Amino acid sequence: MSAIVAREIRALTIAVFSALAAGPGGVAGPWLVGTLIDSGSRAGGFAGYPFGAALMVAATAVHRRWGLAAERRSLAVVARPLAAVDRTRWSDRMTRAGTMMPAAEAIDLDTMALLLDIDGTLLDFAPTPREVWVPPTLRRTLGALLARTDGALALVSGRALADLDLLFAPLELPAIGGHGAELRVAAGERSDPARTPALDPMVKRKLASVAELGPGVLIEDKGYSLALHWRLAPDKGDAVIAMVRSICDSFPDLPLEALPGKAVIEVKSATFDKATAVAELMQRPPFAGRRPVFLGDDVTDERVFPILPPLGGFGFAVGRDIPGTAGSFADPTAVRAWLDGLLERET
Ligand SMILES: [Mg+2]
Repeated sequence: MSAIVAREIRALTIAVFSALAAGPGGVAGPWLVGTLIDSGSRAGGFAGYPFGAALMVAATAVHRRWGLAAERRSLAVVARPLAAVDRTRWSDRMTRAGTMMPAAEAIDLDTMALLLDIDGTLLDFAPTPREVWVPPTLRRTLGALLARTDGALALVSGRALADLDLLFAPLELPAIGGHGAELRVAAGERSDPARTPALDPMVKRKLASVAELGPGVLIEDKGYSLALHWRLAPDKGDAVIAMVRSICDSFPDLPLEALPGKAVIEVKSATFDKATAVAELMQRPPFAGRRPVFLGDDVTDERVFPILPPLGGFGFAVGRDIPGTAGSFADPTAVRAWLDGLLERET
């Protein structure tokens, strides 16, 4: 809608200025010819011809300097709309408080590895995790960056790997899933189930009893963790959190941690997290020897940022400023434009 209005206004502006420019010429020309004829002077009449010729030479010079070939071309091509946004100028979308703009020049795809959180980083939040939308252009960009980095691009998420693959299908990417419980170093490989033990069955049974709080409190067993959702029973949120925390405290010998999310709390072993999985991933080819660049927005991502500098890498926050990062992006849209820019600068 706004683009149409802008186009209308530009067309009107061009029409007005054309009329203003053509008007005086259209009036002055015939008037001058008439005056010269009326004067009856041969010299005056003759002088009119070189004067006209000089005007045409001057007009030719102006055309050569500023003229545009506008035939059969759309207005938007001939005159760039004022509202046009240069997609590579993603810095305009950065949060103002960002300590450093994530300049594409700082990213060397030959020597770096790209590690990307998904929800809130690559994808905009949706009312529920199932409702997120993956733009087709993002699949293309990630696939191209995977090839460009010789396989050194990985998703880092709290979601299970199977869930990631459904989201990005048919694209399959190296990935860390389940907050570090699952690790896939290369597409086509399977995460080794033995690297992360399942959550203790006793803990699971006790946590499952939280669902007794009422209808709408749902249990999701991910094997290595157990999540309790209360999106359908928002009034139960506080009670669920309190009960889950007290159950965790009732197992003092087990290293448990509860990760609160949007209308969900997930209990897992504290022995693994995104940071331990990223450290493991960075020891495996093709990631080994590369400098990790990590983008994330979650509380769980905050543990990853400190392990990056010792590996020669750095991180960027999304949606907020996080201490220890090299800068921040305003939102996932800015992240996606930035990723596109990493490829565009090479074409
Ligand atoms: Mg996130």
